[in-house]
Amino acid sequence: MLRIGLTGGIGSGKSTVSTLFAARGVPVIDADAIAHRLTLPNTSATQQIVRLFGPDIVSDDGGVNRQHLAKRVFANPAERAQLEKILHPLIRAEMQREQEGLLAPYCLLVIPLLIETGQRDLVDRVLIVDVEEHVQISRAQARDGRSESAIRAILQAQTNRDQRLMTADDIITNNTDLAALKPQIESLHQKYLAMAVAKHGGR
Ligand code: ADP
Repeated sequence: MLRIGLTGGIGSGKSTVSTLFAARGVPVIDADAIAHRLTLPNTSATQQIVRLFGPDIVSDDGGVNRQHLAKRVFANPAERAQLEKILHPLIRAEMQREQEGLLAPYCLLVIPLLIETGQRDLVDRVLIVDVEEHVQISRAQARDGRSESAIRAILQAQTNRDQRLMTADDIITNNTDLAALKPQIESLHQKYLAMAVAKHGGR
């Protein structure tokens, strides 16, 4: 199966884009959703994270308070590396497992830190959702209720827009509205279907 890696900065529109692909029947494997499941109460990842970061990052239900943890690791690269050491191998294994059950010409792997974490080898093509920084910040703020400085701290920890674009095989531009997004998705969908057939006979 052809594997398309969808990535982009915070608030660029990855979830929005993946929903539009899913509406066309494309299986979507979402690294963030997997990370979320891994950090629910009583998992071994949650136990390891709490051991490392202390009880401050435990939410009321006993899982990891993800917003709290994100704030902490985006301010501290060493802690971020330790967190990634726990989570990334587990996320990778789970993404692999989810792919094995799929029957589709291609699938979308949504991996926010695809470039930053050197996971290019997991996918056949890199699809970037690109957005101007001021649009990105205002959308992320409106969605998350975070301050502009909190969003900027996350942007600092992510690869910059130019470097990200240099890794792209395909680019979706998401500066305006949903109406502008849909034809781009449709044209990429047709392209990926044709590529999947050429590569694997559609399997
Ligand atoms: P990401 O998954 O990359 O963090 P989202 O898809 O959640 O980004 O988009 C960030 C926010 O911006 C969401 O609230 C989403 O609804 C909004 N958004 C994304 N793309 C558009 C668009 N083309 N028009 C209007 N709002 C958008």
